[in-house]
Amino acid sequence: MKNLRLAGQAPGRDRSVVEVAGVRIGEGLVVMAGPCAVENEDQIIRTAVAVKEAGAAMLRGGAFKPRTSPYAFQGLGLKGLKLLDKARRETGLPIVTEVIDTRDVSWVGEYADILQIGARNMQNFSLLREAGKAGKPVLLKRGMHATFEEWLNCAEYILAEGNGQVILCERGIRTFETYTRNTLDLSMIPAVRAASHLPIIVDPSHGTGILGMVEPMSLAAVAAGVDGLEIEVHCDPSSALSDKDQQLDPLAFARLMDKLRRLRAFMEELEAEDASAGGGADGAELGATGAAGAADALAAADAPARAGAGAA
Ligand code: PEP
Ligand code: MN
Repeated sequence: MKNLRLAGQAPGRDRSVVEVAGVRIGEGLVVMAGPCAVENEDQIIRTAVAVKEAGAAMLRGGAFKPRTSPYAFQGLGLKGLKLLDKARRETGLPIVTEVIDTRDVSWVGEYADILQIGARNMQNFSLLREAGKAGKPVLLKRGMHATFEEWLNCAEYILAEGNGQVILCERGIRTFETYTRNTLDLSMIPAVRAASHLPIIVDPSHGTGILGMVEPMSLAAVAAGVDGLEIEVHCDPSSALSDKDQQLDPLAFARLMDKLRRLRAFMEELEAEDASAGGGADGAELGATGAAGAADALAAADAPARAGAGAA
């Protein structure tokens, strides 16, 4: 891919790890969980305690919500950030929260451990540049109409400002399919692993918009080699002020976390087997078992040939 001077992978280069308050994203599986939006103190504290108990490593929650309608709940703004800070102090969980306006980047960065740039703002180049100067890790979600190359170029904007702490997040794209809220493109996991050194996480909540799909898509992402997940969890989803149909309750989240841990351990066993069989360095020998190896194989493949294969 052209011009990915900083985001692109180079032969022999290690994959990047973004460290946030002791959490290492790009190593193992990091789960960020919490409500779509911060609504009140009781809701965010109860949810934060529940996701922490279930094993989440970070708390998510929006204080600034990019909503389709101007009349829908827009988030609590500064009050929401203060409540997130309280939840962080009570649970020790670092916080990921969205920033939607260039004017807010520096002060939101005083509360956030990771600044999230949402799908709707992926190509807001001024926001990307501001986030690049903020000195905070940035979670860059894929725009719902963005190609792989456009998305990685947006990461490049942040990196070009001197901020190397970028995490990519696949959250589904718009296709002709309307049954799901978005079409979750899990093929981006091996694609990112092949083309870039940046960590890649998946958001199965916005990616599907359907409660019963959050678990299978999370497990599928782990099987495909994802570095982390961002999952919406609410202490009482039926009362949520936004995205009530896709937020897991604490019990469902705890069950999912248990399955994720077991699947991840199994994947590590497979990867260790591949490595001891000597396949680690040469992905082409790995077959379908090792997600990391499969990505290596993809990187080694002839890129123009791949592009050609797509042309009908
Ligand atoms: C979110 O994570 O709160 C969100 C709005 O997601 P997206 O930008 O992917 O729609
Ligand atoms: Mn949401």
